[in-house]
Amino acid sequence: MEGFAKLQVLKDKMFEAETEKRRHLGCKYCGATFYGYYEKSGFSGLGLVKIYDADGYAIETGLRYPDCPKCFDNIGVCEVARARYEYEEMEKSQRRRDEKERKQQWEYENVPVKVDSKLTFPSKKALHQRIAQAAKDPNSITKYEIMSSWFMDKVFWEIFDKGCHTLKVRDFSITKHLEDCTYLSNSGKTRFGRFVAYFRVVNDKTGKERWIGEERAERLFEIYNRRPNRRNDPKRNWGLPGNRHDRD
Ligand SMILES: [Zn+2]
Repeated sequence: MEGFAKLQVLKDKMFEAETEKRRHLGCKYCGATFYGYYEKSGFSGLGLVKIYDADGYAIETGLRYPDCPKCFDNIGVCEVARARYEYEEMEKSQRRRDEKERKQQWEYENVPVKVDSKLTFPSKKALHQRIAQAAKDPNSITKYEIMSSWFMDKVFWEIFDKGCHTLKVRDFSITKHLEDCTYLSNSGKTRFGRFVAYFRVVNDKTGKERWIGEERAERLFEIYNRRPNRRNDPKRNWGLPGNRHDRD
């Protein structure tokens, strides 16, 4: 007998007694606890019994845990106290996740949302349902909804996806416009900010027009363009390199 085989025999002898001892075991995945025996195995694979030397290095024993009677697998099986502990920890974090999900769902269905001073909804869920309904039946859109550029933008996205379009609501033609509130980073590689929607509402009977959300768009445009950035600074040549000014 050579090398590895010899070693195997030696180890088998060393741990022989271990297979005869009845043990209290547990499964950390399903929480089952049971009595069983270590079984002989090769030296690789999952569910192996390892013991640790004084320096903390694992010594392979050539033994494996028996299968869990509930999962029919041994990858979660270990000594009962550790299995119980790990199973409980797993359950606790699952409970925390469930609890958080329940809370979020409750808020989604119960916390009122104020879109505008005259436009509130009993919940986020109700708001989402209303946007979908308004997109399906534009004639149901109320005047307070029309007066909210935020709400109208959601409805336009629902109907048309991106871009500027015109929607007929009863006697009104509502056209979406976009203010470019984006700006480039100093390196010119990244674009920050966003496009902000505002709307032109024309009464087709009287020809009277009204702009909704324009002030907000202008305000945001101002804010984004006042960002300290050499790309919007004429003194620094709008961020362009290589001119005389930069070399000075
Ligand atoms: Zn199990």
